Amino acid sequence: MIKSPVLISGAGIGGLSVALTLQQIGVPCRVFESAADLKPLGVGIDLQPNAMRELYELGLGPTMLRGASDVYEYPMIDRDPVPTWRDGNAALLGDAAHVMYPTGSNGASQAIADARVLGAAMLQCGVNARALQAYDERLRPALSPLILRNRGAGPFGLLNLLDERCGGVFDDIDAIIPKAERDEFMHRYKVAAGACWRCVRASPASSTWRSAATVCTTRAVGI
Ligand SMILES: Cc1cc2nc3c(=O)[nH]c(=O)nc-3n(C[C@H](O)[C@H](O)[C@H](O)COP(=O)(O)OP(=O)(O)OC[C@H]3O[C@@H](n4cnc5c(N)ncnc54)[C@H](O)[C@@H]3O)c2cc1C
Repeated sequence: MIKSPVLISGAGIGGLSVALTLQQIGVPCRVFESAADLKPLGVGIDLQPNAMRELYELGLGPTMLRGASDVYEYPMIDRDPVPTWRDGNAALLGDAAHVMYPTGSNGASQAIADARVLGAAMLQCGVNARALQAYDERLRPALSPLILRNRGAGPFGLLNLLDERCGGVFDDIDAIIPKAERDEFMHRYKVAAGACWRCVRASPASSTWRSAATVCTTRAVGI
């Protein structure tokens, strides 16, 4: 029986995914949001198949993105990977843990995946610091290189390749970058981001939960 609720700072896509996950597994939580109003920011986001699957698992169908009436400009920023996402009974998640350039269009997807792995770790280890440690160990090593990868061109690197090979002028794309090479380029990125269709199909959502469980049971970490 959990007496104290889990406290979630921020009602972004990461925080809300955690809240829904905790609700699903019967863990009480409270969400705190510093913004007084919800406002459109003028950017639609693309969700990857691994994140969509988790949203379906949460019982949410696909949502229609509505066009924003105002458009704002912000600088693109990221942050170097950090050595841990956990400090005692607190853990970072989503952009707070691994903000990266949106060249791979997967920051929000990753925040959803984080939430689900965290929920899995809590199911396995309980609502405690061991769960946070298991979550950190499961995801941080894979996500840290992705931050640096996105600092380069990410999937947009394909456009750089096109520019290198023909200055961006071509009649037949296949003559410049054959389809197999394009597919391989994109596949490598999707694998790194955990979003390749083949991998998603081969590992149902519950496998993320099993993976977190394995980490937790094989590595008991003190609270
Ligand atoms: C131009 C652009 C395009 C993008 N395109 C895509 C895309 O196509 N696909 C994709 O997956 N990702 C995309 N991303 C990335 C994606 O938007 C982010 O990775 C994602 O929104 C992060 O979610 P989050 O919940 O971690 O953080 P946020 O969405 O930043 O939410 C954090 C929340 O916490 C609140 N908060 C902050 N501090 C406190 C505090 N102390 N107390 C309480 N509340 C607090 C904030 O007000 C905010 O509501 C894009 C990003 C940009 C900038």
